[in-house]
Amino acid sequence: MDLIDKAAEGAALSKEEWLSVISDKEKYPDERLRNMASSIRDSVYGRKVYLRGLIEFTSYCKNDCLYCGLRRSNARAERYRLSPDEIVSTCVHGYSLGFRTFVLQGGEDPWWRDERLVPLVKKIRSVCPDAAITLSVGERSDESYKALRKAGADRYLLRHETADREHYSRLHPSDMSFDNRMRCLRTLKRIGYQTGAGMMIGTPGSSFETLASDMTFLQDLRPEMVGIGPFIPHHDTPFASEDRGSVALTLRMLSIVRIALPHVLLPSTTALATASSDGQIAGLEAGANVVMPNITPMGEREKYLLYDNKKISDEEDGDNLSSIMERFRRAGYKGSLERGDFRA
Ligand code: SAH
Repeated sequence: MDLIDKAAEGAALSKEEWLSVISDKEKYPDERLRNMASSIRDSVYGRKVYLRGLIEFTSYCKNDCLYCGLRRSNARAERYRLSPDEIVSTCVHGYSLGFRTFVLQGGEDPWWRDERLVPLVKKIRSVCPDAAITLSVGERSDESYKALRKAGADRYLLRHETADREHYSRLHPSDMSFDNRMRCLRTLKRIGYQTGAGMMIGTPGSSFETLASDMTFLQDLRPEMVGIGPFIPHHDTPFASEDRGSVALTLRMLSIVRIALPHVLLPSTTALATASSDGQIAGLEAGANVVMPNITPMGEREKYLLYDNKKISDEEDGDNLSSIMERFRRAGYKGSLERGDFRA
């Protein structure tokens, strides 16, 4: 029995052990990891792919993350903010298409303080009573997370970005803190959100070691969801001329995360689909079981640019569900519009 078999049986591996799983492609070939991950996913969730309606509701952001096109120093970013009514109608439209999870994602936009966001969540909860509400609006206070949970939010996505403190400080300005990110994630778990952590693959200065730290962190936090995608440079950021992250390594990490956390809800991300034309299906084959088609109203969709060439048509289009479903079917999967909650 080697390390990955131990991990598959639920054993916690040390950072050094994860390092050898991640880096030793001879001992742990991609194909073996993919096959293990895929059969683990099949035994927990079957061949279902859960579809989430993604609403990118604000491109304003007070943060200055070095990798992100929405960073506050990017004067060229087009800023928009959907109104509460527009967001509710987008949910109602998504509901009529069949979606039963809405993901409200945005920059850290100070306009959306609790006095506005809490009533919005309540409103969505009342018009779409059986839909899951997922928030992805960054770092907030414990009180805010509690109020939003009470208003009806079920899930919260907040990628940790990297579990390596030093690497975190290469990716973020000094007014952002690793400790606060960690506090937020622990709070979200404690309050009872289905919590999503996650990391980009191949950010400048990252290494197999930083990924090994991500694995020990994920193993310890035990998030219900993990978002993983390749880093893709954006031309108006300090990382404009850095290399993009490897698709192969992203797929390998998806498999490793599925093996370490068999029940995790694992999206095949837009960044992966952007980096490779067959990335979305490759992500499912690596062990993913969630996709998040975009249902943001058309005029705004092309303005939410975290990175260059973001895929906005085709497999990402929530208004084109039948072609999404058909592509999954051809690949041996079944698209599902159910809420798709975490199965403990
Ligand atoms: N403000 C929210 C949502 C951020 S956008 C928050 O802080 O959680 C969602 C994710 O996109 C980020 O967590 C980050 O991991 C990813 N992202 C941002 N810029 C990216 C880039 N250049 N390449 C790939 N992924 C990126």
